[in-house]
Amino acid sequence: MEELNPFKITQQQLKKAADIMNLDKEAYEILSEPMRTLTVSIPIKMRDGKTKVFKGFRVHYNTARGPAKGGIRFHPEETIDTVKALSAWMTWKSALANIPYGGGKGGVICNPKELNDTELENLCRGYIRAIGDFIGPKVDIPAPDVYTTPQEMAWMMDEYSNLVGHNEFGAITGKPLEVGGSEGRFDSTAMGGMYVLREAAKLKKINLKKARIAIQGFGNAGNFAFDLSKKLFGSNIVAISDSSGAVYSEKGLDYQKLKKAKEETGSIDGCKGVEKLTNEELLELDVDVLIPAAIENQITEKNADKINTKILLELANGPVTPGADDILFNKGIFDLPDFLVNSGGVIVSYFEWVQNIQSFYWTQEDVYKRLDSIITTSFKDVIKTQMEYKSNNKKISPRMAAYIIAIKRVADTMKVRGWY
Ligand code: GLU
Repeated sequence: MEELNPFKITQQQLKKAADIMNLDKEAYEILSEPMRTLTVSIPIKMRDGKTKVFKGFRVHYNTARGPAKGGIRFHPEETIDTVKALSAWMTWKSALANIPYGGGKGGVICNPKELNDTELENLCRGYIRAIGDFIGPKVDIPAPDVYTTPQEMAWMMDEYSNLVGHNEFGAITGKPLEVGGSEGRFDSTAMGGMYVLREAAKLKKINLKKARIAIQGFGNAGNFAFDLSKKLFGSNIVAISDSSGAVYSEKGLDYQKLKKAKEETGSIDGCKGVEKLTNEELLELDVDVLIPAAIENQITEKNADKINTKILLELANGPVTPGADDILFNKGIFDLPDFLVNSGGVIVSYFEWVQNIQSFYWTQEDVYKRLDSIITTSFKDVIKTQMEYKSNNKKISPRMAAYIIAIKRVADTMKVRGWY
């Protein structure tokens, strides 16, 4: 049976990259486990007057290059191992983007769809009180992730400010503009993905104007990926899904109609004039670009062989398992790894934090221009590393190239700091 524990998967990926690059054994040992993990209990008074205790986590995977950085997931199936895995991926993400952060992540086991606004706000505040000593603008800076939005970030920043006794906008990123958010942060994960897609299509000589795209997920990432790929390239989005299932139209889907259905019914399922598919069927469509933008372990040994796309743009964290990796690589699919493709979110979080520290705010144009420059450089670094290995007769995937760059940056910093 294939390993689906996300933390074990990150360890497998690290091991594979470490072997290829001959990573120092001591550096490997440090990088195999998180530096710190915290588990908390959060008692919340519910609407029926009873107290419910929620369980939460925060992990600092590695802080050699800067404060821990990473989102907070509110998910019914959250586990410490998912959070550990995601914090490892944040370490590689920040290092590949070459921004001055380590990697962190947080999560609370809950179903936000079952909470009313007051319960949700109290959970956000309770979580921050519980992890208050573990975070801060110089220590660890949380941000949104699955099922958390700018509103939750505003409550969390407010609670952290209460704890320290003054406004501390730089303690949390992904905030609304009114409380020190950055222009361009709301769609930055998708925007970064689009810049990577533009470069990938150029390299593979794919005309994005004629491209058929399928997207899995309609959340923080998938929703904007739909809108932006249409606006920027004029591509045809033939399928998209959310947790209720997928919709398909050969002629291309209408973004406004889908958004309306989602707002009115809570899912895209209510959209009229489209064919219905399952999430599995969506992944197997014959398309030019497939964008998994939901959660981890979507393309595994079981379905990798049926994936039928030229470019696989991993906008979610961890959508492809290591077993699937090899199958996709042998099929010649250009699979661009998550911690490159979705790094736009943390890159603009970095801009937000810099703006908060300086109390000096940039235009949206500035933000996009700088994002483009950073993520395009990362893409080119990945391709260059692949080429370097190829010229030494070693064929490596874009994921392994990205790992090699990121691991080397973290290991070099640890070395010069005297950690090994
Ligand atoms: N949750 C996002 C990610 O996985 C953003 C993290 C951040 O902005 O710190 O990259």
